[in-house]
Amino acid sequence: MRTRMIAGNWKMNTTLSEATNLAESLTSISSPETEVVIFPPFISLGTVQNTVKNSQIKLGAQTIHHEPKGAYTGEISGPMLKSVGCDYVLIGHSERRQYFHEDNALLNQKIRAAISHQLIPILCVGESLAERENNITLDVIKTQILEALAAIPYTNMVIAYEPVWAIGTGKVASPEQAQEVHAFIRKILSDHYDKMSAEKIRILYGGSVTPQNSHSLFEKPDIDGALVGGASLSAESFINIIQTHS
Ligand code: PEP
Repeated sequence: MRTRMIAGNWKMNTTLSEATNLAESLTSISSPETEVVIFPPFISLGTVQNTVKNSQIKLGAQTIHHEPKGAYTGEISGPMLKSVGCDYVLIGHSERRQYFHEDNALLNQKIRAAISHQLIPILCVGESLAERENNITLDVIKTQILEALAAIPYTNMVIAYEPVWAIGTGKVASPEQAQEVHAFIRKILSDHYDKMSAEKIRILYGGSVTPQNSHSLFEKPDIDGALVGGASLSAESFINIIQTHS
């Protein structure tokens, strides 16, 4: 039995005071059957950790540098993220792949860095609209997973399936489209590791999730929760997604 996870990716939104207020309004959440993780901007992590420390909310970072320290101006390392209370880190969000040219080989190094600093990686994968229209969705997903996880032994990790055409567009994948890819991802994980390990790995769906569409997504057997962008910036809609019953 996998514990449902609802993760909120705040991206490059919220000033320090806005982040603190948003985090504060989530602290009353009491949803013991769901793991809730938020991913504020780097500069707010320390303050938000203080805000949520007596609640069930966990903290994650939006990316990580693969080296533990050194001359990498502007970057943030695993030990730094641990020092502000992060448990999770997003790896390979499509915006990092698109705007910061992160490829699967680099993501492999980032996953290794996360694991070596006791951060749980959430590997994001997903096809573009052109790739879906060319019927190569499953090939793209397989390559993204196998290259990112190459020679990495099984460990506690999460996968987020986020079709690029559904992120921030209001176009959500149908529950059937998402389930097809999630089941495929689990099969890849089963072949790469083993069936028992693959059954333990949570696979989140991401892409325009709202309180209106979360129920039908969460009904599917391989959809173990959601990575939420836009709707996580409103406490009300994020809490409504957390409280979705399937
Ligand atoms: C995301 O950024 O991971 C995401 C899924 O965004 P949105 O929910 O806004 O589509």
